Amino acid sequence: MESQELHHHFVLIPLMVPSHLLPMVDIAKLLARRKNVTVTLLTTPINADRIRATIDTEILQSGSSLQIQLFQFPNSESGVPEGCESFDALPSTDLLQNFFKALSLLQDPLEEAFEKLRPIPTCIISDKSIPSAADIAKKFQVPRLIFDGTSCFNLLSTHCLRSSKVYENVSDSESFIVPGLPNKISFRKSQLPSSLISSSTRQLGISGFYEKVREAEEEAYGVIVNSFEELEEEYVKEYKRVTGRKVWCIGPVSLSTKDDIDEAQRRTTDSNEEEEEGQYLKWLDSWPARSVIYVCLGSLSRVAPEQLMELGLGLEASKRPFILVLRGAYKRDEMEKLLKEDGLEERVKERGLIIRGWVPQVLILSHTAIGSFLTHCGWNSTLEGISNGVPLITFPMFSEQFYNEKVIVEVLQTGVKVGAEKHMHIWGEDKDGEVQVKKEKVKEAIEKVMSEDDEESKRIRERAKEYAEKANKTMQKEGSSTLNISLLIEDLAHFMRMKMNPGVKPHTNA
Ligand code: UDP
Repeated sequence: MESQELHHHFVLIPLMVPSHLLPMVDIAKLLARRKNVTVTLLTTPINADRIRATIDTEILQSGSSLQIQLFQFPNSESGVPEGCESFDALPSTDLLQNFFKALSLLQDPLEEAFEKLRPIPTCIISDKSIPSAADIAKKFQVPRLIFDGTSCFNLLSTHCLRSSKVYENVSDSESFIVPGLPNKISFRKSQLPSSLISSSTRQLGISGFYEKVREAEEEAYGVIVNSFEELEEEYVKEYKRVTGRKVWCIGPVSLSTKDDIDEAQRRTTDSNEEEEEGQYLKWLDSWPARSVIYVCLGSLSRVAPEQLMELGLGLEASKRPFILVLRGAYKRDEMEKLLKEDGLEERVKERGLIIRGWVPQVLILSHTAIGSFLTHCGWNSTLEGISNGVPLITFPMFSEQFYNEKVIVEVLQTGVKVGAEKHMHIWGEDKDGEVQVKKEKVKEAIEKVMSEDDEESKRIRERAKEYAEKANKTMQKEGSSTLNISLLIEDLAHFMRMKMNPGVKPHTNA
């Protein structure tokens, strides 16, 4: 095969946030396991510390040519406090604008690091939100692929909404159908991501940044998607057709983890939490198959303590075993106070685990005791739930999470809504402690996916199982995602040949 004669050097530039960094590391591992491939992850020192253990394990287990190259985060120039190099580490959402400024100042540090790389890079895979990568790709004449940590459903919906602007003529609460999608999908304006609504990006002072992101997206050589064709075939096809872009679906990339050590290392903190992680698994071992509800609202969550309490009370009312992950330091004192005053933790201690720190989510979801997952519908969490055949209870709050809810509830039908209706402030934060979802709704949604008697519950669980089988198959030797990685490498080899010999004709499809 032509690609085997050339050496590829992929340079991966992840966005500094767990939901983009973790899948990029998985992508790096998948690529570096191929013959004649070197992969470099280009990131900042603190982000590198977060991923070093998993990279070292991979090198040890697979002998891959995989490395990390550092560049400095522009803290002083952007006003982002020293020691903070990722969105989730920001002490306040008031500093978001500074973080976006830092992202727009990456050209020089990235270029300096890029120049040093050997062998000479042959392809850049950069996060969509790092537009400086476009200039570097141009300067060094390498093809650049973008990664956005999302699905083709999301990419196509965004494309259709942007080109039709259908949401501009409706009120916030009015429902409208998105034109151009394979299924009849309707949204309310209040559910759309703020990056789409120009008044919101203006308010945050980031409209200029998003314009650059869009320009860089238009110029990209292709798109890498953490999804798989069997999950959203029509959306993949339609997205390729309407944009004319080369698209490679190579996921679910979290299935790149080979064993429990690997899955446990899929964390974003350098603190030693292994002992606690072992305890969670032991606790799970004590419950029957598919009996435990797992609740985690992602890596950025700033959900009001009052809302988290309501989730806890709903879980208590379900009378089923559960894990509730509170995470983070956001309003921690208030949260602890509410928990103590109510006495919830004490009342449920025989069957409920309330966790304050980072959990090994992929490892937990793959445990046979897990029976459902109440998720904020981040794409990674969604896909991790799907890959493990776990029915989902959807509680979208911000960003593209309402899109992902549509995928789960309407397209795949492997989950139910908990009843959140509108986009919340950044990362689910609500300064007034608003409670969108009451405990009764939580209990009701849990029953809808876990009931032993209800026929629709059974069907949801069966469909979830079927998609998990497809997800696992797609990552195996003859699976579509595995094949797409081969096609990507082949396409890039062809590109290199064209560069060396302009007489060679371009590849037409992906
Ligand atoms: N995650 C984890 N442990 C936690 C919280 C999150 O492993 O305690 C991982 C989760 O498995 C997923 C990622 O962090 O891979 C979160 O990404 P997602 O897109 O679901 O949501 P976001 O964090 O962007 O809101």
